[in-house]
Amino acid sequence: GGGSKAKVRPPKPLSFEQIGGQERAKQELVEALDFLIHVDQIKKFGIRPLKGILLTGPPGTGKTLLAKAAAHYTNSVYVAASGSEFVEMYVGVGASRIRELFKEARQLAAKQKKESAVIFIDEIDVIGGKRDGGQQREYDQTLNQLLTELDGIHTSDTPRILLIGATNRKEMLDSALLRPGRFDRHIAVDLPDKKGRAHILGIHAKNKPLNAEDVNLEKIAEESFGFSGAQLESVMNEAAIYAMREDSELIGQRHLSMAIDKVMMGERTDREATN
Ligand code: ATP
Repeated sequence: GGGSKAKVRPPKPLSFEQIGGQERAKQELVEALDFLIHVDQIKKFGIRPLKGILLTGPPGTGKTLLAKAAAHYTNSVYVAASGSEFVEMYVGVGASRIRELFKEARQLAAKQKKESAVIFIDEIDVIGGKRDGGQQREYDQTLNQLLTELDGIHTSDTPRILLIGATNRKEMLDSALLRPGRFDRHIAVDLPDKKGRAHILGIHAKNKPLNAEDVNLEKIAEESFGFSGAQLESVMNEAAIYAMREDSELIGQRHLSMAIDKVMMGERTDREATN
């Protein structure tokens, strides 16, 4: 707590119930995680340990949330890094950062007396991108270190380590990462369907004063086709801002509709700006 310099923020426990939609992804993840929990059974049957789970899908769909919930579900410590941290690092720095990350996970687990650790690496394609370009020698060392760490995981280790990677460019990943015993499980985390969108909107409406007589979240879910969870969170937030600006007591359907337009427009101008 307080003024400590730890790089690891104490994560707020996050459960699967706080993640809307993504029912199939959640189920697949839980099935995979049970391998981490039932370690005696795994040993008895001589099943090789699950080391890596890859979450694939567009930005803002809840991959980070799923990784945090996975840590919570398995009573593991959680440490995280993003592939973008490794961009433009000097030769060798990336590899030592990977080593540190695993060390950090082991130390944190020891400190908190937990038997397992979840290491989450977002944008893993930045580290584990295909190595055929030839120009990215620094990434080679970083990726090699990651592979070394993965290969060094054994069922009998304490803590047991699970690596969860996320990417929205699975096709960019080096095949070395995808071999058995590395990222074994691939779980697709797609854009939510209408039911999922309604669920996500409901989750983000919980702490907000909605006008229950006016608001129809099903309808908002219908109007927000193609939105990610992150965009739906923005819709709720923007609607609250509109209501507040109008000195309205409650958030109404009209505020939500305006918020949908705003978020949609925002996306469009973002895209125009980057193109
Ligand atoms: P990226 O690939 O851009 O890192 P991500 O898939 O990891 O995205 P998250 O960081 O998990 O996405 O989601 C960002 C925010 O969007 C969350 O903090 C949450 O507020 C909201 N969100 C996204 N998906 C969901 C969901 N399925 N249920 C509830 N909230 C969601």
